[in-house]
Order: sequence, then C-alpha cells, then structure tokens
Amino acid sequence: MYDFEIGKAVEEVVKRGAKRILVQAPDGLKQFLGDLISRLSQVCEVYVSMSPCYGGCDLEDDKAAIIGADMVIHIGHRKYIEGAERVHTLYLPAPHFADVKGLASLAASELRRKGFRRIGVLANLQHIEYVGEFARAIEAEGLAPVVDRQTGGLVLGCQTGGAKRIESEVDAFLFIGGGEFHPLGVAMDVEKEVFVADPYRNELRGTAEIVKKTLSQRWWAIMEARKAKRFGVIVVMKPGQFSIRSAEKIAFELRAAGKEAHMLVGDDVSPERISSFPFVEAFIVTGCPRIATDTCQDPNRPVLNEAEAWKMLELINASRK
Ligand code: SF4
Repeated sequence: MYDFEIGKAVEEVVKRGAKRILVQAPDGLKQFLGDLISRLSQVCEVYVSMSPCYGGCDLEDDKAAIIGADMVIHIGHRKYIEGAERVHTLYLPAPHFADVKGLASLAASELRRKGFRRIGVLANLQHIEYVGEFARAIEAEGLAPVVDRQTGGLVLGCQTGGAKRIESEVDAFLFIGGGEFHPLGVAMDVEKEVFVADPYRNELRGTAEIVKKTLSQRWWAIMEARKAKRFGVIVVMKPGQFSIRSAEKIAFELRAAGKEAHMLVGDDVSPERISSFPFVEAFIVTGCPRIATDTCQDPNRPVLNEAEAWKMLELINASRK
C-alpha cells in the first residue's frame, strides 16, 4: 500500500556502517512497517519509536542519540528542520500506491459540471506523484490545471504557499489525499473553494461545511479567550516547533494587558495534558499552529495558536483604548 523504499533504506544503513538505528513514523503508518523492520534487522539493530510523529518537525534525533543509534529513518515526511540533525537521518516519504485514473476523471468532470475552469492542483507528500495524472485528466475535460512551480503542488499542514501563490490564477483547488487535515489547512488560508480527491475512499468531496464549522469554532475561541484572566502559554519541545521567544513575547503582551501568563512546556499537547491545569482559563500553543485548531480542543476552554493569540491581543488592546 505504501512504498517504504526498503532497498534504499538497507543500502543507506550498510553504506554508513550503522550498527543501531531508530525508525520513526506517524501512527497511521506504523502498522505497515513489518517488512521494512524485518529486512533492516538483517543488517543492524532496529529500534522503533512508539511515540506519535506528526511531521518532519517532530524529529527524534535527540532520543536516537540517547539510545546510541547511528542513524534515524524518518518515515512519511521530508526534511523540515533547517541545519544538520544530531544523528544522520534518512527521510522516506512513503508514497501511497493507488490507481487514481478513475478518480482523476471523476474529479475533473465534477469540477467542470460545477462550472470551474481553472483548477489549482495540490497534494500531500504521499500523493504528490499523482499531481501530473490529475492535471492531465483536468486538461482532458477542457479545463486548465495550475500547479505552483516552487512546490510542485505540495502542501503541509502548516505550509500552504503552494496554494496561496496560485490563488489569483484559479477558480477552485483540488487536493489529492485522504483525511481533512491538509485540505482544511489550505481552505482556511485561501478564499477559493477546496475539493478533496480521496484515493482511500475513491471519492470527491467538498470542504465548505467543515470550513464553516471550523471558522466559527476558531472565532468562538478567540472571543472567549479575550475574557480569560489566567493564561497558559505552552512551549512545545519538539525540535521543529520549539519557539520560546514567541512564547515569551506573547506572555509579555498578556501581562502588559493585565492578564496572568503561566509558562508551560511539553512534548505532546493534548486535551489530556491540559486537563491537569484546571486553574488555567485559556491556553496559547506556540508550536505547531494546527495543535490548537485540530488536535487539542477543549469544549469549555479556548486553545489558541500564535496567530490567533495576536488577534486576541489586538482586540483586547483596542477595547482598552
Ligand atoms: S508544524 Fe504541525 S503542521 Fe507543520 S509539519 Fe509540524 S506537525 Fe505538520
């Protein structure tokens, strides 16, 4: 189902003479790692991380150094962190094998039927190889595909430049991939409609409903946080998300606005983790911007990302003038 490039992984381990390696992968891919681990175990000692892994920002080279690993194999993402890793790291994007021919034609004809003419084609890393096939299907329907030159259409949960750069040239976007995480990130950042061509479900779906729901939820969070007196400002310790400066700046502004700011640090920010702080009325997460919007929601207390925190501070300061 996924190409873990077993030959390339083994070759790299042998070439580097690695004796012990650490393999890390997103939870959704761990279940498919059996063959890769068996094969790698023939040439070195393999440790597999049990921790969740959300992106290239979530690198475990520090843990690899602690267990004495010579190399990390990071699956499902590409390099994200600037500069060298503490331990040599091989990134394997794990493209998803799928026959997308039928889905590409279905998506193109549906978009034509809806009256769109210029279509921005996007994908996550697992499906980036299908951008060309979808572009050809769009052309075959008499429509115009548009692909960002810089990224080839690739978008991450926090990087949507591949969509924003071409927004003025398109009538709608077509995202290739599963789930809501990536298309929602795009849809929240652009004003054009975003459709999802999902190779797992073999279906085309819109995102208008979920965008509407998410926007009202985010606005509720900002407005509710405005009323809070005591804030928890969270510094995420994952290497690609760590930003103590941003946390300190926000805490400074909160205090200047008469609020309390409690500094919190953690690896994983989840509803369970924040439930240990019932005295905090609102949280601000300075790591991944999608933690607040997607993975760490609390029905009773607002959780904001950095951009939302600055919006809230702007509103607080405007009301104090
Ligand atoms: S910061 Fe968040 S959205 Fe960006 S790569 Fe990391 S986990 Fe994904």
